[in-house]
Amino acid sequence: MGWNKPDKLREVAYDEPMATPAPVLCIEKERLIRAFAHAALEYNRLTSIRVAALLKGDQPPPQGAIADAETRKENAKYAVLAHQDEHGC
Ligand SMILES: [Zn+2]
Repeated sequence: MGWNKPDKLREVAYDEPMATPAPVLCIEKERLIRAFAHAALEYNRLTSIRVAALLKGDQPPPQGAIADAETRKENAKYAVLAHQDEHGC
């Protein structure tokens, strides 16, 4: 079957790693973004728990814990923005 060859070539082209070019990331920026993602997740987790508790009439987590998590999230966000300013990346 002479037509097998083009099909195989197409498969190879599709599997080429070039399809997902890895961006060159600043290690510090990556660290800051990861810290922000973690802080944002924690804040979202606490607010979800609070909403669920309020809806069920349960005791919600203390407001102070949520405020602390929000502060950590905001600080992490500004750290990323400050890094973008200083580094341009
Ligand atoms: Zn950087």
